[in-house]
Amino acid sequence: MLRMFDLWSCEGWSFRGRGTASKLSSPASNIKYMNKNKKILIDVCCGVCFAGVSSQLKNEYEITAYWHNANIFPEKEYEKRLLAFQKAFPDQKIIIDNYNWQKNHDGWLGFVKSEEYANEPEGGKRCLKCYEYRLNRVAKCAKENNFDLFASTLTISPHKNADKINKLGLKIENEILRSAQDDKPKFYSANFKKKDGFKIANKISGELNIYRQNYCGCEFSM
Ligand code: SF4
Repeated sequence: MLRMFDLWSCEGWSFRGRGTASKLSSPASNIKYMNKNKKILIDVCCGVCFAGVSSQLKNEYEITAYWHNANIFPEKEYEKRLLAFQKAFPDQKIIIDNYNWQKNHDGWLGFVKSEEYANEPEGGKRCLKCYEYRLNRVAKCAKENNFDLFASTLTISPHKNADKINKLGLKIENEILRSAQDDKPKFYSANFKKKDGFKIANKISGELNIYRQNYCGCEFSM
């Protein structure tokens, strides 16, 4: 089983060890590892949303968190959310994808057509590009590391349209599988906010005292 300090074979991905998190006090994680057959890679936007999503999937799948979050601005906020995540889930396997905030954020700004879509409301054209960017990244990483499934925490947010996100996820799954030798990774299509999903995320994150941001992530949402 892969652990926090294992390295992935493909260039650009790496685990961040617990060096950063160990500077912080670490409450016991609520993540339990079991012998599960399916491995799922979950794109994580923040610890609060992961708390809710992982509680829904942890009994069924072996979960690895995927952290890229090129959308987050400024860098200190990126660091703050990552540290909060590691503090709340110290034993959670995580892939930190290419930690170079400035380079990643610049790439993200270009992909989401930030100049053209700067004044789009949350949920508009810029956000659709943002979802696509993030789902593409997690899908590519899942493929390169032989995961069965990829997913995103995004749909747990009451501000995010699950139908649009799931449509994009399935499109990306089709694109990846078209050139694949096998039938994975599949996209885990879900609306995690259903059945009080967001309320439960709030409850768990409150118990774990996870930092809660007051804006989605990018400079256009501040
Ligand atoms: S508001 Fe949120 S979802 Fe929309 S572009 Fe910014 S970070 Fe992405």
